[in-house]
Amino acid sequence: MDPKKAIHAQVKNAPQGAGGADSPSKPKDGWDKADVVGKIVGSLFIPLVVLLASYSINVALQKRADQLKTIEIAITILQSDKADNSPLLKDWALGVLQSTAKSASQTIPAPVIEELKKTPLPSNAGTKGQFPIVGLRFTPEEFEKYVSKLEFPEWRPSFIVIHNTGSPNLDDWRSIPGETRMRNLADFYATVQGLSGGPHLFVDDKGIWVFNPLDKPGVHSPSWNKVSIGVEMVGDYTREKVDPAVLNNTVRAVAILDAAFKIQANTLKFHSDDPKTSHVCPGPNLHKEDLIPRIAALLECHSRQQACSPERSPARTE
Ligand SMILES: [Zn+2]
Repeated sequence: MDPKKAIHAQVKNAPQGAGGADSPSKPKDGWDKADVVGKIVGSLFIPLVVLLASYSINVALQKRADQLKTIEIAITILQSDKADNSPLLKDWALGVLQSTAKSASQTIPAPVIEELKKTPLPSNAGTKGQFPIVGLRFTPEEFEKYVSKLEFPEWRPSFIVIHNTGSPNLDDWRSIPGETRMRNLADFYATVQGLSGGPHLFVDDKGIWVFNPLDKPGVHSPSWNKVSIGVEMVGDYTREKVDPAVLNNTVRAVAILDAAFKIQANTLKFHSDDPKTSHVCPGPNLHKEDLIPRIAALLECHSRQQACSPERSPARTE
């Protein structure tokens, strides 16, 4: 049907006097008709415009989100060292960067493009409030293999320093996944405390987390950062007893490190032994006698190339 006729048909069929202004008997003049037609067109047209406008806003937003995602991917490619192995991928990423600059009425000078083809785009990772962590948990057996493959060209620690985490205690520690815990700790040390490293190990009841790389000095005890490995036992030994599984894993971890660095068990220190700290760490519920004799026993057992258990006393001969 012709749209005009359709509108007239609606006008004709519209309930008379519905708006109250028109008398049913009074014939409509041209202005009245135009007004009615205008209202009807308006009543149909405005929702349509709103609908179209919201549709095009959604499309524009989606398009913008897609563009941003594409730019993000391109930047990630340009920041990666590995992109050198894939020149086509790098060319695509540079194309995205160039067209983004162009739409912002900017140009990237040709020498900069050439430079970007050769060198990765600078990245904030590892420089802005961060330091490298290992962030992996090992069983004592896995830890022994891991340590045996490391090389120590930069430093050689002379002893081990024991800490307790205090807060989080072992229950708190279990409340979030370990990988997340590692990242949060790295953020905390770097951003809140402004440190460039942390303790080397966090030992919980399930295993041994390597935090600060063992082949680099960490930050854990003011006098001894350059000469010692920092081991955090997860727990609060001012308020709680030492968890037996944490203790066993610590004995194993320290014995493995002592063996690797040819350190005597009785060189072990507590954080509170550091004259430059006032920390009561690892707390009064842990004693060196809980650790040193058992570490010494394990070292002795290993030196005789026997199967050794941290729960057993030294002369395990079977
Ligand atoms: Zn401490």
